[in-house]
Amino acid sequence: MSKKQFQTEVNQLLHLIIHSLYSNKEIFLRELISNASDALDKYKFMTLSDSKYSNSDFTPRVDISFTNKEDDISITISDNGIGMDKKDLNNNLGTIARSGTKNFLSKISGDAKKDSNLIGQFGVGFYSSFMVADKVDVISKKAGNKKACLWSSDGKTGYTVRDAERDSQGTTVILYLNEEGKEFAARWQLESVIKKYSDHISFPIFLHYDETVYGDKEKGEEDKVESKISQINSASAFWKRSKSNLKDKDYNDFYKSISNDADDPLLCIHTQAEGTLDYSTLFFIPKKAPFDMYNAEYQSGVKLYIKRVFITDDDKELMPTYLRFVKGVIDSEDLPLNVSREILQQNRVLSKIKSNSVKKVLDEFIKLSKNKEKYNEFYAEFGKPIKEGLYQDFENKDILIELIRFKTTKSEDKLISFKDYVKNMSKDQKTIYYITGSDKKTIKYSPLLEMYNKKGIEVCLFEDEIDDIVFNGVREYKKYKLKSVNHSDADSDLKDNKDESKGSDKSNKLDGFIKNIKKILANDVKDVKLSSRLTDSPCCLVADQNDPTARMQEMMKAMGQSSNEKIKPIMEINPDHKIIKKIIKLNKGKLFNDSINLLYDQALIIEGFRPEDPIQFVKRLNEVLNKSL
Ligand code: ADP
Ligand code: MG
Repeated sequence: MSKKQFQTEVNQLLHLIIHSLYSNKEIFLRELISNASDALDKYKFMTLSDSKYSNSDFTPRVDISFTNKEDDISITISDNGIGMDKKDLNNNLGTIARSGTKNFLSKISGDAKKDSNLIGQFGVGFYSSFMVADKVDVISKKAGNKKACLWSSDGKTGYTVRDAERDSQGTTVILYLNEEGKEFAARWQLESVIKKYSDHISFPIFLHYDETVYGDKEKGEEDKVESKISQINSASAFWKRSKSNLKDKDYNDFYKSISNDADDPLLCIHTQAEGTLDYSTLFFIPKKAPFDMYNAEYQSGVKLYIKRVFITDDDKELMPTYLRFVKGVIDSEDLPLNVSREILQQNRVLSKIKSNSVKKVLDEFIKLSKNKEKYNEFYAEFGKPIKEGLYQDFENKDILIELIRFKTTKSEDKLISFKDYVKNMSKDQKTIYYITGSDKKTIKYSPLLEMYNKKGIEVCLFEDEIDDIVFNGVREYKKYKLKSVNHSDADSDLKDNKDESKGSDKSNKLDGFIKNIKKILANDVKDVKLSSRLTDSPCCLVADQNDPTARMQEMMKAMGQSSNEKIKPIMEINPDHKIIKKIIKLNKGKLFNDSINLLYDQALIIEGFRPEDPIQFVKRLNEVLNKSL
């Protein structure tokens, strides 16, 4: 009997498998079970579609057995699926016909360690058997054929195919285990690997094993070894079950089984899509944020299945980072099983499923928001990541912005939405104003808000650290511009037309005064301007129109995103304030100088920063105190 050569690419692959270190050799079983399941799917389809097979009494199943004797350590995986004839065996197990594996091969770097990681993560189909076996026999009988065939190979020197015997249609794969694979010829090992990867295969997987039944010695009974068979998998992909048959309790139980969460989930989002794309997704939103949500090393909560075969639970790309608290499953019918991570990431089918999934999840959040109380609980846990989304996910920004909640200068302690804000606006207000600041207690009393309060204009209070950065990227909501009160241009909106002439008149007179301040604070501020926004405070600090605020600069620095060069703020002066009027009269001298510095420092303090030189600050303050006492 002549030996046949593998196709060059198969040789390449086998070489890699045999000569690399494997991080995940257990996946061989997943691959073989998945092949068996495919074969069962195909035969099932024939019994449904081809009258020649329609009478056959078909109970699809996978049977796995093992021996662990000194001279025979092997695992046998058997199915009653469609089977293969001689030609099939040559084509399917002698060549690589699938583009997935071809692509995989083209990605191979030649670095044994990296490549073996790729194998570990995605498997290479049937050939992965050679990670654990130094000889593999495949006995197969194609449905409708009388004869069976035996394919046999050591994975190195080619393969042989000859006639053989098999009772009924189907395929039996026998792995003669090598040193690497020996450990798998054991009941608990097999059981745990089957459970881990193939629990949701929709056909039953039976494990055959021997069990010693201990006899009652007093009655003179001998110990007996009995053969047992037990079904290992639950044989139904939960997410494939018809939605109408599933109750809340079923969802909650399933959620608990995959999440380690003892609590029921806040939301279950189950989608079964058919048509151009055939996939199921089942997502859960926990009640409480996962403990590692703010950890860069967080564990992805979404598992990828392809045709009910577990592929990975370690792909953070399955959900955008901001939805890292979502738990669940994506199961696609249209993806090839043997596909490397890189290929998956570029896969159009998967990206479409992902983008549909994100939309679906966000839609459910919108629905949840109709229930204020429930939504507030959700927002307390997940508001921050939602804001990250507003910053990251341009495609969905219109939905995301509707999900944002905040307090305002008028809302007391209630959270409102942009929709609410706009509803409360007076007819001639064209702009949504917001203030950022991380001190929840003082933000409401910021001098920046004085004129808005006086004029009755509501201002959103954005109190989260990330708000500066997030809302800097949000230019509008519907037809309304968003403006930060912390920036200089918001001030001009507050000027009345009559004020305008008065203002310029005033500024002419005050030119010299402003110049003097600029000289004193040359190192600290970019510019000094007369303000329209202040009533009770003498001065305030704002960022120039297109500059980041001071807090934003700090954030960016902490994230390593900006240079150390500080972008200076603008100081706004309230010329009608009694202290300013007195300082104007002073005109120059030490007290003038100290007062200006004190004004600058107090503006810093109100903004939540420390004076740059606290010692000088206290000295000046004490001198001024001393004078007034
Ligand atoms: P894939 O399953 O992605 O096609 P594999 O390397 O796992 O790639 O398998 C190669 C081919 O061998 C399969 O496509 C199938 O045609 C055939 N095959 C493997 N195992 C079986 C089996 N148990 N029954 C029938 N055909 C099989
Ligand atoms: Mg396969």
